[in-house]
Amino acid sequence: MKQNDYGPISGSSIFSGISGQKAIIMAANTRITTVAKGIFRAAKETDSAVFMELARSECDLKGGYTGLTPKDFADKINDAAKEVEFDIWALHADHITIKKGDPVEIDQTRQLIDAQVSAGYTSFAIDASHLFNFEGKNVREELEQNIQVTTELAKYIKSRMKGKDFGLEVEVGEIGRKDGHGLVLTTPEEAVEFINALYSNGVHPHVLAIANGSTHGHIYDDKGNVVEQLSIDIPQTKAVAKALRDNNLKIGIAQHGITGTPRELINQHFPKGDIIKGNVGTFWQDVVFNTLKVYEPALYQDIQEWTLEKYRAANPGKKDKQIIDGNCKFAIKEFFKELYAVEEDTEDAIQAMAYAESLVFFRAFSSYGSASLVRKTIP
Ligand SMILES: [Zn+2]
Repeated sequence: MKQNDYGPISGSSIFSGISGQKAIIMAANTRITTVAKGIFRAAKETDSAVFMELARSECDLKGGYTGLTPKDFADKINDAAKEVEFDIWALHADHITIKKGDPVEIDQTRQLIDAQVSAGYTSFAIDASHLFNFEGKNVREELEQNIQVTTELAKYIKSRMKGKDFGLEVEVGEIGRKDGHGLVLTTPEEAVEFINALYSNGVHPHVLAIANGSTHGHIYDDKGNVVEQLSIDIPQTKAVAKALRDNNLKIGIAQHGITGTPRELINQHFPKGDIIKGNVGTFWQDVVFNTLKVYEPALYQDIQEWTLEKYRAANPGKKDKQIIDGNCKFAIKEFFKELYAVEEDTEDAIQAMAYAESLVFFRAFSSYGSASLVRKTIP
């Protein structure tokens, strides 16, 4: 039994604890960490394991667009877990994105990983999916650079973790990428080729992110209104999971970009157990901003005005509300002090909203009881 310091446990413990279960574990990108206590309270009450994560774009050595370094993020989430006394959670580095794969970028990525390891991260997602060779003559050639870079960085993380277990997520198929025909989806063949190649290189990830029709953040109609996301291709997702199983590759799927997907659809139609990790990001930012609209209207007004002024020029033809909606995430760093110094009433409301919404996610994901399953497997 681990001692109860309420620090993060290895992502690998969570994945092995829920192995064989028809459950999805929520991974929350808490860009404004005020929501964390509400999420942990709901996790504790429903006995749900959870990942807390931020992507490289959100959180890096310079603070990303949330203003948080890996150490800042770790401190805030650890404090929230301690206060709530919740123990079954992992601290995950979402989208450690590599876009070019050149030596400078790889070196900067190593420095980011160093900082994440020092801050106590227990799970990592390497995302080299952008390194897709469109000139490749076959699937292997198309994926070769992704395979090489993912292998190199996975081995680097392993060496830095010095024998400690950690969770590992990898990515094939850039999420949200479009070609002339619409969203490009990962095929079963690509997923199998990618994971087989990593296995041969001695890398055994727990979870695979695929492109299956989701988009990060909100989607809009032609008037700029936010609409429900109904585009996740469930048959294709099941086909990828089946192909992996048929090839004896023990790996689950990470569903990215869940914000906007109706939870009744997730509850009734998502292949839980094929999908084992569900990333929810923008949703938590909405919880904060929607609360500010009523509780701190002056601050919300300032955020809107700043965003519009800064991003109007780059978005000709778009409606104001879509520009604000799509870019207000960049205001988090600008208004960092104000966002973390809201009135107590505001904070209470944000946490209560986060708590209630988490209950609904955990139910839709069938993760109730998962924390106990994981707890049993921790040495
Ligand atoms: Zn993602």
